[in-house]
Amino acid sequence: LCLIDGAAEAVRRTNDAGFLAVLVTNQPQVAKGFASREVIESIHARLETDLGRAGAKLDRIYWCPHHPEAGHEDEVTELKGACECRKPTPGLLVRAATDLNVDLGRSCIIGDSWRDFGAGRSMGVAVYGVRTGEGSRLLPPGIEPPDLIFDDVNEATAFVVHGVPEVEILATRLAQDAPSQRPKLVAVSGISRTGKSTVAHALRTALGRKGIETLHVRLDDWIVPRKERAPESTVAERTQSASMPEIARRLLGGETVEAPGYDPHDRRGGRIVRYTAPSRGVVILDGVLAGSSGLQHLIDALVYVEAADEIVEARTRAFYRWKGCPAGEIAATLRRRRSEEWPAVRKQRTGADLIVGSSDASRRV
Ligand SMILES: [Zn+2]
Repeated sequence: LCLIDGAAEAVRRTNDAGFLAVLVTNQPQVAKGFASREVIESIHARLETDLGRAGAKLDRIYWCPHHPEAGHEDEVTELKGACECRKPTPGLLVRAATDLNVDLGRSCIIGDSWRDFGAGRSMGVAVYGVRTGEGSRLLPPGIEPPDLIFDDVNEATAFVVHGVPEVEILATRLAQDAPSQRPKLVAVSGISRTGKSTVAHALRTALGRKGIETLHVRLDDWIVPRKERAPESTVAERTQSASMPEIARRLLGGETVEAPGYDPHDRRGGRIVRYTAPSRGVVILDGVLAGSSGLQHLIDALVYVEAADEIVEARTRAFYRWKGCPAGEIAATLRRRRSEEWPAVRKQRTGADLIVGSSDASRRV
């Protein structure tokens, strides 16, 4: 047993913030006959000891010993077959919620696999993926992607516990504004890997708590697949920036808009995504050029997200490594971004109503 770096700190942080920390885990080795219940329980005891040494504690561990398919030599017949606890079934979460009187509106599941995401969705809690372990990579049809993917559980819990304080101010302002004929439009822009999606998700969560319906539109769903790009394409071309004002107008007018979809993992086309705005409420446009000049006359608030260059570069390298890109290709991508994409994206900063993430944050909200 070996704890992933930062995992104990992550659990301790949730303990300190007054959250419950519950482990829900599939252990089909028992049904398959590879390990006894006692072995699994001793592994969990060891885990609790290691966490305890780091000042962290799990409030409860729930685990499923079952496996759906027969066919293992030493299998335990009575544990084979469908059950109500194996994720993506939400049985273990239901049990935890009942036993511990969990506030589901403030709860989330953090996991590395589509089974965790499916269980979380069924339970109606926020769903966060991590790039460690299975790495949140495989997503079978019918399983929605997580709300956000973090580098690891430590980063995920930091977000859960601290949120993005700046967006609370914006959410309050939007909630106080007089109701309008159309939904309000908030753009969240900034360089890739600065944390735009995290900010957009935090804003959506904050507005939801104020009873305001939101639609989070990921402009990445319109990115042109790599094979269809011109050799020296600009960021505006790659993201189909020229089409965005028309798309925003249609959304605000109540139309359902279809995005071609984009799979960042292999940079090919993805699944079609349909967006329909709530009749009032807020539409959040989340994209590198969401605050570009063509959109500005439609935007009610422009948020610009930034981070130090070293942080953006480190996150970009980690992200492309996760995607399986060779080092040379990552370096070339970073060079291109620095010379063309970053200057183009940074032009939006001057018009921002709120700047998130920098130490010299100017707040004009
Ligand atoms: Zn089970």
